[in-house]
Amino acid sequence: MQISGQPRVLVIGAGLAGSDAAMYLARRDVDVILLESKTVRLNPAQKNPNFGELVCTNSLKSLDPYSAHGLLKAEMKAFDSFILEVAERNAVPAGDALAVDRDKFAAEITEKLRAHPRITVVDREAHDPEALRIEYGCQYVIVATGPLTTKTLEDWILREISSDDFYFYDAIAPVVDADTLDLSKMYFKDRHKSMEEGGDYLNAPMTKEQYYAFVDELARAEKVPPKTFEDWKFFESCLPIDLMAERGPDTARFSCMKPVGLEPDINGKWPFAVVQLRKENLLGSAYNLVGFQTRLTYKEQVRVFRMIPGLEEASFIHLGSCHRNSFLNARKLLDFDLRSKAHPAIYFAGQITGVEGYTESASMGLYVAFQVLRRIGGEEPLRFPVETAFGALVNYIMTIEKPCPSNINFGLLPSVPFTREQKRAGGKKLKKELVARRAQEVFQSFQSSLR
Ligand SMILES: Cc1cc2nc3c(=O)[nH]c(=O)nc-3n(C[C@H](O)[C@H](O)[C@H](O)COP(=O)(O)OP(=O)(O)OC[C@H]3O[C@@H](n4cnc5c(N)ncnc54)[C@H](O)[C@@H]3O)c2cc1C
Repeated sequence: MQISGQPRVLVIGAGLAGSDAAMYLARRDVDVILLESKTVRLNPAQKNPNFGELVCTNSLKSLDPYSAHGLLKAEMKAFDSFILEVAERNAVPAGDALAVDRDKFAAEITEKLRAHPRITVVDREAHDPEALRIEYGCQYVIVATGPLTTKTLEDWILREISSDDFYFYDAIAPVVDADTLDLSKMYFKDRHKSMEEGGDYLNAPMTKEQYYAFVDELARAEKVPPKTFEDWKFFESCLPIDLMAERGPDTARFSCMKPVGLEPDINGKWPFAVVQLRKENLLGSAYNLVGFQTRLTYKEQVRVFRMIPGLEEASFIHLGSCHRNSFLNARKLLDFDLRSKAHPAIYFAGQITGVEGYTESASMGLYVAFQVLRRIGGEEPLRFPVETAFGALVNYIMTIEKPCPSNINFGLLPSVPFTREQKRAGGKKLKKELVARRAQEVFQSFQSSLR
C-alpha cells in the first residue's frame, strides 16, 4: 500500500477498540495521537487509570473455533489484534473461554501503547473531534469512546451526528473475596464436563426451596431508581438478575442459574439451580458472580447475595451496578466502513457503533483501523464478506432496522443449506459447525485476496 507523506490519525479513547486501532495503525507506520480522558477523571464504571479496562466480567468468551466468538477471535488474530495478543499473555483458566487477569491485562496494554514510538498519548477529554483533528494536524479521527462516552463529547455527537435517542442501560456483576467463601457448600465443575476433569467454575448449587426464596427476595429487594428523565433500557442478553426475577420466578433458572451440564453435584445430587463463580485472577483470590449484574442497592446486594449457599459470610470486593450505555444508529449515520456521513474525516469504532461486548468492540477497532489505512493509502474502503464474523457484525449494525447492540452470534451469519439427513445426524450443532467451516474458508480466501 502506498502512503504519501507521514500520515497521522487521532484516536479518541484508549479502551478495547481504541487500543487495538491505535496499535494496528502504529505498527503500520502511521503516527497516532491517542487521547484518553480516564487519566483526568474516571467514569462511574472505571476503577483505575489504565487503558483497555474490563469494567465487568474478565471473560472475552469462547475460544472454540466452531463457536461464533471463536471465529471472531481467529479473524482478529489474522488481523494482528494487539488486544488478543495481550489477553493470551495474561490469560487465567476458564474452560473453553479466554479470561484474563484484568489488572495485568490493562497494565500491559497501557505500557505498550505509551512506549510505542509512533504513539503519542494525550491525557485529555475530547469535546469536539473536528476541532481536535485540526489542532493535532491529523487526516482522520477514530472515535472509540465506548458505552460511557463523556457528556461533552456526547453533546457534540448529538449536535453534529445524531439527534436520535442515544442510550440504553447495561450492568456490572459483583466480585467476592475467595477467602470468605464456604467451599464445603460449593464445587468446581465446568458445564458439560465430568467431575473428574475438575473445572474453572465454582458452583453454588441450590435446592428448590433455596432458589425460590432467593428469587423472591431478588424481586422484592430495593433497587437503584433510574434517573427521572431516563427509562431503564437493557440489552436482552445481559439482563440484571433482579430484573429476571421480576419477569418470573423461573426466568433465572433458564438463564445464568440453569443447572444444565452440572449435574450431579459433589454429593451426587441434582441441583435445582446454580450460581456460578469465575476466577477474577490467576491467584484465584477473587471470584465474580457470573451473570449477576444488578440494579439492587449496595445494602440489598449484600443481604440478598449472602443467601447463596457458600456466600453466607462473603465479603464483596466490589458490588454490582448499572450504567448508561451509549451507541449510534450506525445504519442511518455511518457508511459501511464506519465513517460518519456528516463528517467524512471522522470514523467511529467499538461499542459506540452498536456492537456489544469486549471482543466485538475490539474487533470494530481493528476493522476501522484497516479501513482508515486504506483511505490513507488512497484505496477505496473494502466490504468484508458477510459469511465471516467481521462481515456479519458490520452487516448487522448497518442493516438492523431498530438498533439494538449485539454480540457476535450465529444468527448474524447467513445460514447454510442443511439436508434433512444432516439435521437428523447432527442437529443444530452440526449446522453451526458448517457455518463456522464456511466462515473460515471465506475468511481465508478474503485474506489471501488482500496480499
Ligand atoms: C457497566 C458495563 C458493564 C459491561 N459488562 C460487560 C461484560 O461483562 N462483558 C462484555 O463483553 N462487555 C461488557 N460491557 C460492554 C463493554 O464495556 C464494552 O463492550 C467494551 O468495553 C467497549 O469497548 P470500547 O472500546 O468501545 O469502549 P471502552 O472500553 O469503554 O473504552 C472507551 C474509552 O474511551 C474513553 N473516553 C470516553 N469518553 C472520552 C472522551 N470524551 N475523551 C477521551 N476519552 C474518552 C474512556 O475513558 C474509555 O477508556 C459492559 C459495559 C458497561 C458500560
